[in-house]
Amino acid sequence: MALDNYDLHNHSTRSDGLLSPTELLELAARTGVDAIALTDHDTTDGLEEAEGAAKRAGVRLIPGVEISVSWGDTTLHVVGLNVDPSAPALSKGLGSIRDGRIGRGEKIAAALEVLGITGTFDGAHALAENKSMLGRTHFARHLVEAGRVKNIQAAFDKYLAKGKPAYVAHRWAELADAVEWIRASGGVAVLAHPGRYNLKPMFRDEMLKDFRAAGGDAIEVVTGSHRPEQYAMWQRMALEHGFLASRGADYHGPGESSIEPGRLPALHESLTPVWSRWAH
Ligand code: AMP
Ligand code: MN
Ligand code: MN
Ligand code: MN
Repeated sequence: MALDNYDLHNHSTRSDGLLSPTELLELAARTGVDAIALTDHDTTDGLEEAEGAAKRAGVRLIPGVEISVSWGDTTLHVVGLNVDPSAPALSKGLGSIRDGRIGRGEKIAAALEVLGITGTFDGAHALAENKSMLGRTHFARHLVEAGRVKNIQAAFDKYLAKGKPAYVAHRWAELADAVEWIRASGGVAVLAHPGRYNLKPMFRDEMLKDFRAAGGDAIEVVTGSHRPEQYAMWQRMALEHGFLASRGADYHGPGESSIEPGRLPALHESLTPVWSRWAH
């Protein structure tokens, strides 16, 4: 029997995606997804719309969120799956980290202004449909539109990535808190795209241990945010550290994400999928 096509990491216009929750669910139906998680950054705003669209599209919706975490000087992302968005601990916690985004945006704009690039706060703000979720992706899109860089990647490489001149350090949630909010709302905590943090083996192992100690249950192995050659290594990490494995496109929208929901390779059969926790 073919495995169900689960895609457990995707964004909408409620954070930094380009498709509305409805458009995302319609796309998922076209690409053959059986169950999709909407995991917007630091907000569950889009889930209500997504639920209605899921019913119409005949796709199962897994309610999710992707929480920004500060682990030492490193920003980690923790995905919560099967969360209850009405749980007070989760909604309060997410509210507390969203609060800093406008102020951080002003600092990013000020740093760009020092480089002679003016008007980026208004430009990015106009592109953010959900103003409380103003993020670096909106700045990147604005810089592309303004002709300052040729594409999103270049905006990060030149200005917005850690270590670049318009990077503004920000304190997000504590790892233990983020996992606790997810679990208190009935969800499963998944470490997002662990290969993206570029950690040396010692720190990588420490991250996995801390995540486990905090109550984390799964790590993403096959994700649009890993290069295909990274899958084997994170598969090994999942098996060695006893984590369930997740799969998700980390889709942000047409023209920006090369991999559509449901189009990634399947998880290797040696792995226990995170959806074994709730499937059937
Ligand atoms: P923020 O939460 O505002 O710091 O924005 C983080 C988002 O920026 C991520 O979820 C990605 O969508 C995007 N991002 C971060 N780094 C890069 C990069 N190097 N290239 C493209 N997009 C990136
Ligand atoms: Mn994003
Ligand atoms: Mn992420
Ligand atoms: Mn993401």
